Amino acid sequence: MPPSLLPPRIASLPKAELHLHLEGSIQPATVCALTARHGVHLSEGGVRQRYAYRDFPEFIEAFKWVTSFLRGPEDYALIVRDLAEHLLTQRVVYTEVTLSVGVMLLRKQRPEANFEALLRATEPFEHRGLRIRWVFDAARQFGAEAAMEVVRSAKRCGSRAIVAFGIGGDELSVPTEAFQSVYERAAEIGLHRLMHAGEVGSPEKIREAIELLGAERIGHGIAAINDPDLMELLAERQIPLEVCPGSNIKTGALALQLGRNAATIEDHPLPALLRHGIPVVLSTDDPAMFHTTLQTEYENAARMGLHEDELARIVEMGFQHAFSPAGETSRA
Ligand SMILES: [Zn+2]
Repeated sequence: MPPSLLPPRIASLPKAELHLHLEGSIQPATVCALTARHGVHLSEGGVRQRYAYRDFPEFIEAFKWVTSFLRGPEDYALIVRDLAEHLLTQRVVYTEVTLSVGVMLLRKQRPEANFEALLRATEPFEHRGLRIRWVFDAARQFGAEAAMEVVRSAKRCGSRAIVAFGIGGDELSVPTEAFQSVYERAAEIGLHRLMHAGEVGSPEKIREAIELLGAERIGHGIAAINDPDLMELLAERQIPLEVCPGSNIKTGALALQLGRNAATIEDHPLPALLRHGIPVVLSTDDPAMFHTTLQTEYENAARMGLHEDELARIVEMGFQHAFSPAGETSRA
C-alpha cells in the first residue's frame, strides 16, 4: 500500500456523512449472519463475490439480493448496529442515513415497525457521540403512487429523527414531473427534499429535480460537469452535490459521464465542481458494497489534487449542509 495522501489533521477531524444507504452498508460478515437467520449459509468470500460488479445494473441486482434478507425489525436492528460501529471508526459524529422504505413497502413490510427497531438499536450510539438522522427513500422505478406511500409512512412514524424524503433507484425510469405532488406533500409534512440525479442520467435530470421538485441537495449530480449553465445555477443557489467518488468508479457512472470506457479517481470532477463554487458533501453511498470508507473517500479527494484547506472545507460543508436543526450537528 502506498502511504496515505490524507493529511493527519483531516483524518482526525470529526465528520458528517450525508449520503449513505443503510442497505448498502452491510459488511460481509454481517451479511453472513443475516442470511443465516433465514436459512442461507454463506462464506464471507461468497458475499464478496456478490459484492463485485461490472456496471450499474449488476450493482442493482446485488442490492436487491442483499435486501431480500431484510425481512423484519430484528434484521434492521442487526445491520444498523453494524453500520453505527463502522461510522464511529471513521470519526463520523453526525449522519443522515437513507432507508429504502420503498423496498420495505414492496415487500409488504410495516416500515413503522422496522423504523422503531432502528431507533431503539441506535439509541446507545447517540450516547457514544454519533447522531443518526434518517432519509425516507422511494425507488423511482416503482412510480409516484409508491413514492407517495413512502411519504405517508414517514408521517405515520412521526419521528423528528426523519429529516428528509428522497428518491433513488433507476434514474432513467419514471419522468421527474410525475413526482411533483409527492414532493409537495413531503414539504408540507416538514421534510427536506432530496433526489438522486445526474449519476447516470443527464444534467437535465438535476435541473428538473431542482426546478420541478425543489430538491435541496442532489445525490451524486456529477453530470453537472457537462453543463456549464447548470454549474452556474448550482453555485448561485448554493445547492450541494452529494459526491461519492468510489461509488462513481465502481458503478461505471463516472466513465459514462465522461464518455469513456473506463475512468480513474484522478478523472473525477470533484475538484472542478468545488472550485467552481458548488457546495460538495463527500460520502460513501454504499460503503460495504463499494469497498470504501469515508476516510478512503477523503483520501480519494486528496488523490484528485485537493489541498489540505480544501479538504478541511469539505469536512465543514458536511455539517453546514446537514438538515438537522442548528446546534444538533455540533461536533463533540
Ligand atoms: Zn445513493
